[in-house]
Amino acid sequence: MDTTQVPFSDLFAEATALRETLVALRRDLHVHPELSGDERRTAGRVASRLRELGLEVEEHVGGHGVVGVLQGAHPGPTLAYRADMDALPVQEISDRSYASLVLGVSHACGHDAHVAMALGAAELLAGLRNDLHGRVLFVFQPAEESLDGARAMIEAGLLDRYTPAALLALHVSPLQVGTVGIAEDRCLAGMEEFHVRFYAPGGDLEALFSEAAAALQALSTHEGPRDAAQFEALAQEMEAGSELDRAVFVSCWPNLDEGETPAHHLLVLASMADFDLRPALQREIRRTLDRVVDRYGATYDLAVTFVNPPLRNAPALVAAIRPALEHLPGVERVRLFRDPYPFSHEDLALYAAGVPTAFVWLGTANATRGIASILHTPDFDIDEDALVTGTGVAAAALLHLSKVWR
Ligand SMILES: [Zn+2]
Repeated sequence: MDTTQVPFSDLFAEATALRETLVALRRDLHVHPELSGDERRTAGRVASRLRELGLEVEEHVGGHGVVGVLQGAHPGPTLAYRADMDALPVQEISDRSYASLVLGVSHACGHDAHVAMALGAAELLAGLRNDLHGRVLFVFQPAEESLDGARAMIEAGLLDRYTPAALLALHVSPLQVGTVGIAEDRCLAGMEEFHVRFYAPGGDLEALFSEAAAALQALSTHEGPRDAAQFEALAQEMEAGSELDRAVFVSCWPNLDEGETPAHHLLVLASMADFDLRPALQREIRRTLDRVVDRYGATYDLAVTFVNPPLRNAPALVAAIRPALEHLPGVERVRLFRDPYPFSHEDLALYAAGVPTAFVWLGTANATRGIASILHTPDFDIDEDALVTGTGVAAAALLHLSKVWR
């Protein structure tokens, strides 16, 4: 099946020809990572590259957000493609030439690759305007890690002004390079954040604090993967469709806001792909805290301080982009997930509430090259061959959708 004028093989050959450009850009961003809300340099590079490619560019959308509009030659839908730009407060451990130069900050979530691939796809499609229907919005989003960039761009009118009919995003993952994975429906966990303050006059606050944290974390039904091999085992469960849609994962952190003793103030993140589980989990969290503080003669306050909804893919959109994924050379394997990945969140979920959305996992691991770490770890890296695959996937999916999506 080939519904495009431009064969997928040509598209992939063009993505391959961009390899050096993609690698150079990704490495430049990797060396200069910027934290959520601080993506000034990255956004500047993005905007100037989009202008060079002849796109219409809007800057400062919800902070450092950048939108590039590529107009096709034929009437058709408005499609959006989102790349996030921010890095993490993680000290990189790397002996690579392109290791982060910023102390305590690194692209441990691969957003450097996301930006490079989005610009690569914009370049490919800019050369194929004559075959493109409708228009493509390339959305470069700030502050994904802090889960407030999507909200800021939406509040700045992004969806109202452009009314996209579908939205795509890729995310790097510890799947094998050459693989893409996509959830048919439920895709990522939602997250509820709690702040808990303990009051223990004369009591052992530190012992109380660690006991409470351990007891809350024990409410988790599953453990997160620690390396690519464990991620692979989980991916197999996601394909088979097991119990991961009912998974609950609780993690606890000392709150490090200024002027507070860490042992007073606990930050609790509760993840679940099915938000119907929220009331029961809240009750369980309170019951657990009641039990622990009782033994210390202490009390606590609890407040829900933040909620990010679960991410669901639109099944019709997933079905529509599958031909592009399956027929693109360079994609050796397409994996369909029946169950969500229950340990991560994405503020892409906020767009997905109003726009049919598909989030695609791009395989970037390669154990034979020693690239096997999971996201958000100090030695996370990607196999740069994936930059070509991802650019091809993005361009092929968008070009194909521009003809079939209404
Ligand atoms: Zn990420």
